[in-house]
Amino acid sequence: MEKKQFQAESKRLLEMMINSIYTQREIFLRELISNASDAIDKIYYKALTDDNLVFEKDSYYIKVNADKANRTLTLRDTGIGMTKEELENNLGVIAKSGSLAFKKENESKDGHDIIGQFGVGFYSAFMVADVVTVVSKALGSDTAYKWESTGADGYTIEPAEKDSVGTEITLQIKDNTEDDNYDEFLEEYRLRSIIKKYSDFIRYPIKMDVSGS
Ligand code: ADP
Ligand code: MG
Repeated sequence: MEKKQFQAESKRLLEMMINSIYTQREIFLRELISNASDAIDKIYYKALTDDNLVFEKDSYYIKVNADKANRTLTLRDTGIGMTKEELENNLGVIAKSGSLAFKKENESKDGHDIIGQFGVGFYSAFMVADVVTVVSKALGSDTAYKWESTGADGYTIEPAEKDSVGTEITLQIKDNTEDDNYDEFLEEYRLRSIIKKYSDFIRYPIKMDVSGS
């Protein structure tokens, strides 16, 4: 399988995330939940104008699943999903909003300011994970695709299995080091409090399931 490289700017942001010593790395969850919510909004607005598409409120939610035994945190959404091209274009290049602002206005500042001031988006997952896997099936598409990256050395995309439309993001949570402990991102009470703190306004249900010890 071919390994594709990130664009230069993306790579810089990514490296910053990976090496982040930022104390508020918990904001990765805010970023991923806000993306999931945006994706559900997109299917919602599409349903407003497309008679063939019915938005059934109960079918739209975000699910957070922590597996302590495997050290994985998974976010599943029933949003609009991404095609292969969208996986490539949206996750393989620098994000539009926050990150672009970072690039223009904060060239000389250090990472702390940048992360505090702007939404850093999807790449913030690399503050807590050493592998990020995205399996997505776009609305109207028959095939699902898997995007995977271990960080700055690039990413791969291949066909994958997924029954329902939407996106599933799995973070392989980093191992603890002498200086850094990541176990909190697999603890239910901690995840709940992060969600309460940053994602209280999200208008879709956020369900949680934690397994293992
Ligand atoms: P931003 O949200 O500011 O656009 P991000 O880095 O957070 O930047 O996300 C980049 C893009 O990746 C999003 O704009 C969206 O197109 C796509 N994306 C990320 N997560 C999802 C998701 N869960 N479902 C669908 N698309 C997503
Ligand atoms: Mg975002």
